[in-house]
Amino acid sequence: MQELHMFIDGRWGGSASSEKQKRSIVDPATGMVIAEAEEAEQQDVEAAVNAAYSAFQPGSLWRNLSVSERAELLNRTADLIEERADELARLETLNTGKLYRETRYDDICAAAQEFRCCANLAGECRGNTADSGDGLLSMTVREPLGVCAIIVPWNYPLGTAAGGIAPALAAGNTVVVKPSSLTPLSAVALFQIFEEAGFPRGSVNLLLGSGKKAGKLLAESQKVSKIVFTGGTQTGRELIRNSASSVKKLALELGGKSAFIVFDDADIEAAVDNAMFASFLSQGQLCVAGSRLLVQEGIYDQVTKRLKERVGKIRVGMPMDEDAEFGPLISQQHMQSVLHYIRLGQEEGAKLLVGGKRLEEGLFADGYFIEPTVFCDCSQSMRIVQEEIFGPVLTVQKFSDEESAIELANDVQYGLAGAVFTKDLERAVRVCRNVNTGIMWVNTYLEDSGVLASSPHKQSGIGIAGGIEGIKEFTVLKQINVRAVQEKVNWFQ
Ligand code: NDP
Repeated sequence: MQELHMFIDGRWGGSASSEKQKRSIVDPATGMVIAEAEEAEQQDVEAAVNAAYSAFQPGSLWRNLSVSERAELLNRTADLIEERADELARLETLNTGKLYRETRYDDICAAAQEFRCCANLAGECRGNTADSGDGLLSMTVREPLGVCAIIVPWNYPLGTAAGGIAPALAAGNTVVVKPSSLTPLSAVALFQIFEEAGFPRGSVNLLLGSGKKAGKLLAESQKVSKIVFTGGTQTGRELIRNSASSVKKLALELGGKSAFIVFDDADIEAAVDNAMFASFLSQGQLCVAGSRLLVQEGIYDQVTKRLKERVGKIRVGMPMDEDAEFGPLISQQHMQSVLHYIRLGQEEGAKLLVGGKRLEEGLFADGYFIEPTVFCDCSQSMRIVQEEIFGPVLTVQKFSDEESAIELANDVQYGLAGAVFTKDLERAVRVCRNVNTGIMWVNTYLEDSGVLASSPHKQSGIGIAGGIEGIKEFTVLKQINVRAVQEKVNWFQ
């Protein structure tokens, strides 16, 4: 049985002063325990924060690194992730139940790319100068904030961790990372990589354990300058409350309920195929999942017919099986929550088009498998349309014209992402501009260049992620005004 330890102040294992509780880590495909993880106590959180705080002080090894030396460490991390990609993908698949072909060719590559991209941009994170012409030289410099705590969810563990850690380090901060208590395996492997890459002691720290305890203490800590949190909107609200007394900076990537809008002129096969990808990739456990399909009335029947045929044929399988197209959900508790929403959809009067059941036979008996599920004839007030289910449940609604499609798309508390399928690009751009989300796709889903930033709308979060704008969020913009010659002001005679 693998034992998972924290990494604090350059050492494996938590603070010596606490007797550690252990948490069992489970493979969601089989329900079997695969590892035992240390559980952080208050002393561990304090030790990790103090280590990161000391490593940030002027004169420390970390603070003495030049920008290019920091970039070198980030590039080395990217190299090591790529070298260990097979092993990391297997760990991520074992721990999350995500298909190996997804973790190997998306999640792990994205994590490496994040470190490489931030290494390239580190030197671009700079200020400005202004010469007023009267001997005063004004400048702005970008300075790191201090200790950044990165709190990570279970659905995309390595990728989300990298998305917070890499820009924080690129900007010169030190970090304390807390993965989801369900999925610590890849985080431990990442910290082995940090150790091998040669990060100075205390610059990177790993806490394992519960959000309710360790996450809350990080939010309350006076020594943590910024929290990067990815998780549910409800937890986000709690974090805002807990961090209020220390007025820290927050980057919150929260829930979503993204609309996938298909107009009459769309290519039906392409639209259905993309809608399935948008809603069922990662078993729908994706913040940007296109979980609300809005279809124009002229093609509604054709689209629902094709969805029924195609979704019914999705191959559910074990995550390492290369023929599998769809795996288990993350945990028994989450599976029960999704099944609850499926029952609710039926009670609310939505028509169950396909799926809706737990798979309990044979190979699937002990895992957390649910059929990919589609409800059609949904109405806007239904809870399955309004609330984030975070599982393989797609709702389908009919709309008459562009205006009503935009209205339906916007009528939820979230504003993370969305898509439009149409041949009319003028209309596509109009819809993109009028739907209140941080990301829109036209005639595609989930693709991006990997270098541009975005920021969520409404209750989907706060702050900018990605690109140079994302790195700047980890800095304070300091203004310095310099007069070379010392002169009297002569204000007071
Ligand atoms: P949670 O909000 O339950 O947890 C996220 C992280 O926060 C975990 O590490 C958790 O620890 C920790 N946590 C829990 N309670 C607190 C607290 N009071 N203070 C500080 N930290 C806490 O989300 P899930 O892990 O269930 O992930 C699913 C959610 O994440 C979905 O709502 C999804 O939309 C969202 N998400 C958003 C993304 C985005 O980019 N917008 C991307 C991916 C997911 P523990 O594991 O111990 O509970």
